[in-house]
Amino acid sequence: MTPRFQNRAGVMGLGMTSQRARDRMVERLREAGIADERVLTAMRTVPRHLFIDEALASRAYEDTALPIGQGQTISQPYVVARMTAALIEDGMPARVLEVGTGSGYQAAVLATLGIETWTVERIEELLRVARRRFRHLGLNVRTKHDDGRAGWGEYAPFDGIIVTAGAAALEPPLFDQLAEGGRLVAPLGSASSQRLLRFRRSDGELRQDDLGGVVFVPLLPGIL
Ligand code: SAH
Repeated sequence: MTPRFQNRAGVMGLGMTSQRARDRMVERLREAGIADERVLTAMRTVPRHLFIDEALASRAYEDTALPIGQGQTISQPYVVARMTAALIEDGMPARVLEVGTGSGYQAAVLATLGIETWTVERIEELLRVARRRFRHLGLNVRTKHDDGRAGWGEYAPFDGIIVTAGAAALEPPLFDQLAEGGRLVAPLGSASSQRLLRFRRSDGELRQDDLGGVVFVPLLPGIL
């Protein structure tokens, strides 16, 4: 039990500590096929309940997406685990860019893995709250309020890019910011049939594999 991870409402009312709730979440992820111990350890560590509104904190460790305001959602733990595992599977990337900070949870998981993490969010209010969480947890995540479809050229190239909102296609600049040997994981397709895709850049070429069906909020242009 780590009291500094308790939010004001606390989650003790659930009849279990948040650490125990996280342990259970991780056991369910393992049963669902997540085998990467590095991912499981990071998700056992990051206090997901601090990334959602207090009113929903009691549901923080269910394997479900939850609303975070502004019409957006924190991704389902299984999806975070799957995307993270896909990103680090053939070697831990040193530097990763995330597009779609949202609650900040995915970025916190990456940072907890020791990855140098950059994240871009188009909705200022969400980013403001996410930054406060990073600070509170002592996580070194660099953030930018911008349309992340163009990536973050200033710090490119990245060994990994993770897009946490769905689009029909991605803009070329994003692929250009992927280092040789780098991996990009993103939900692509139409709203009714999104697939989680992983692209790997090797010898200047992009190879793609399909990691299965997913449902994400849309990747949208412009900033709010
Ligand atoms: N990774 C987040 C998931 C958030 S949902 C988490 O762990 O909580 C997807 C997020 O992508 C939303 O916050 C949405 O505002 C943001 N988003 C959508 N289009 C974007 C764009 N073009 N640039 C940056 N962020 C975008």
